[in-house]
Amino acid sequence: MTAPIIRSLAELRAMTRGWQMAGEKIGVVPTMGALHDGHLSLVKAAEESCERVIVTIFVNPKQFNNPEDLKNYPRTEEDDARKLRRFSVDAIYVPDGDEMYPDGFATTVSVSGLTDVMDGTYRPGHFEGVATVVAKLFLQTSASDAFFGEKDFQQLQVVRRMARDLDIPITVHGCPTIREIDGLAMSSRNLLLSDRARVTAPRLHEEMERIVEGFLGGQDPAELTQAAIKRLQAQGFGDVDYIDIRANDDLSLVTAPDPARPARLFAAAWLAGVRLIDNIAVE
Ligand code: AMP
Repeated sequence: MTAPIIRSLAELRAMTRGWQMAGEKIGVVPTMGALHDGHLSLVKAAEESCERVIVTIFVNPKQFNNPEDLKNYPRTEEDDARKLRRFSVDAIYVPDGDEMYPDGFATTVSVSGLTDVMDGTYRPGHFEGVATVVAKLFLQTSASDAFFGEKDFQQLQVVRRMARDLDIPITVHGCPTIREIDGLAMSSRNLLLSDRARVTAPRLHEEMERIVEGFLGGQDPAELTQAAIKRLQAQGFGDVDYIDIRANDDLSLVTAPDPARPARLFAAAWLAGVRLIDNIAVE
């Protein structure tokens, strides 16, 4: 099915009004486009639990702390629309930047605590940009359900907190990370990797699995991560922003395994000018 591309909020609201009156569940899948199987798994989850599905595509300038990154971000709208044809998507919402942030736009949604660590420190302003645009998309689409990837686990927790704190009546679903066969987490930014860097990239996930195994076997997490960073850099990685084991709920650091408290290993590392992030469950 070919879903209509909707570019204005008025048109989107005209569409969703009827769905709401009919009491239909509306699922929204927010993306920045350059769709891959990770995004499509979210669309599938939305299709399975909602009568109506809206996929949004918006390269949100407010969440880029680096202008070069924003400029280089892949934009592939036609391809994206084609990939969505095999799903039952009711609308592809591609909002116009000026309508999203008209002159004089002055509001920022900021979630404290969860954003004090990891990408919150390495990408100043990033989560404010995410929380602001996601709050707007939730209100614009009137969705009952939203689908986010665990690939961006910190973002998922920030969005959950924001929706709860602002009483936005929406259920936020977290969906598992989809990986390439060699273990690399799918990401639109992988398109920016050179052939050589693409061969090295899966090492990050390999090292992460090794750390989790050692940690669960009683080894010291600081020693494990230092050794992993050395090996990654010997293989061509640049700066490693962080490799941390943190609790799922409040993202606080975890120093010893605790079966009663789910935790994940989070990593962000640079490879040939591309920043890769990933996380896996500690279990
Ligand atoms: P993005 O277009 O990168 O902003 O991502 C849009 C949504 O897709 C976010 O909820 C991401 O967490 C999710 N996503 C991105 N990559 C993956 C992946 N490999 N597996 C599952 N979800 C993903």
